[in-house]
Amino acid sequence: MKFGGTSVADLERIRNVARHVKREMDAGQEVAVVVSAMAGKTNELVAWCRETGSHFDNEEYDAIVASGELVTAGLLALALRDMGFQARSWQGWQIPILTDDAHGAARIQKIDGRALIEGFGRREIAVVAGFQGVHARTNRVTTLGRGGSDTSAVGLAAAIGADRCDIYTDVDGVYTTDPRVVPKARRLDKVSFEEMLEMASLGAKVLQVRSVEMAMVHKVRLYVRSSFDDPANPKLGTLICDEEDIMEQQIVTGIAFSRDEGQITLRDVADKPGVAAAIFGPLADANINVDMIIQVVSDDTTTTDLTFTVSGADFERAKSILANSREAIGFTKLSGAQDVVKISAIGVGMRSHSGVAARAFRALADKGINIRAITTSEIKFSVLIDEAYTELAVRTLHTLYGLDARG
Ligand code: ADP
Ligand code: ASP
Ligand code: MG
Repeated sequence: MKFGGTSVADLERIRNVARHVKREMDAGQEVAVVVSAMAGKTNELVAWCRETGSHFDNEEYDAIVASGELVTAGLLALALRDMGFQARSWQGWQIPILTDDAHGAARIQKIDGRALIEGFGRREIAVVAGFQGVHARTNRVTTLGRGGSDTSAVGLAAAIGADRCDIYTDVDGVYTTDPRVVPKARRLDKVSFEEMLEMASLGAKVLQVRSVEMAMVHKVRLYVRSSFDDPANPKLGTLICDEEDIMEQQIVTGIAFSRDEGQITLRDVADKPGVAAAIFGPLADANINVDMIIQVVSDDTTTTDLTFTVSGADFERAKSILANSREAIGFTKLSGAQDVVKISAIGVGMRSHSGVAARAFRALADKGINIRAITTSEIKFSVLIDEAYTELAVRTLHTLYGLDARG
């Protein structure tokens, strides 16, 4: 059972979480719980790191931001004891949850589930601090990237051979799009791993991308549900499962959006072999992921324009790398925009239906929304548009593909 930040935001909510755990314990289950930091805590810690000085250090960053989860793990253990259960908190290194040393975005390498399983024999509930691990060689605390408690939970579920991994959050499942943006969004009973992976990668932050990847690889049954339900009588959530287990497939299952995008445009680059390599090579060397790429065919065939997107976090770095390789690339103008949003439609039905994206282009045009870039792949397509049109575009596509809730 994993509980996110809003679900443990204060002591009353932590007591409520304990009641959810009680229900499962009373039903005879063995339970390990993973908790996030209280809502807003990680943001506060991140801000403190930035404000403290100019000597930013990734290892200290992790030591600091991992602390939020330690508090909630201890508090939940206390709340459970108060209800008469045996419970103890676990910090990442105590289990241990071993990761690589990519501080701030570490990957889990190995989890030893034995100590937790031994505890189950004593009917002891394990309350594990999410989001964190330890690097074996340096013995330093690591964190798994924002939203990483989801991944802690799935990793732990795989390590102890859990029947299920329930992700409790502030919505009662995975919706056709972010319910905070589209009130007509609908809860999905089931979503395939592939679609969930795309939705998460394309901006639906309800699950961290790596948690879905890990669940897919280790065949963990993932269930997303609400912690705000009555603990004695919880309602349904969303099961993430194999495509074959979903009877009725829509063409489009969901709409995701990401505001964390930067668009970079190079004017008048030489139209000759090796130019793309000269542009994207240095970016790759700097670990910058490039997403949408559009190269314009030029009239005079000697120069061309090229535009592409990177994540918002990499935007400034990408621009300065390109400015520094101006000689090698040979462009006349470098420009960029961050007031853009990437809107994506996802659905395994796209494999077998044609013209799905074309309908979206028409619908967006009818609303006067200009498309700056497009990409498509097997089960999704994305368009880059002006950020000001985010809600209009998401709602337009949501309606277009018949996703609006009835009534
Ligand atoms: P937690 O703190 O529990 O990890 P998050 O804030 O990380 O919760 O994720 C839950 C939020 O994800 C919801 O409040 C919702 O606004 C957002 N969200 C975005 N896209 C979706 C979607 N397709 N379905 C459900 N929630 C979504
Ligand atoms: N507390 C961490 C974060 O806000 C991890 C998580 O909530 O999953 O990113
Ligand atoms: Mg989350």
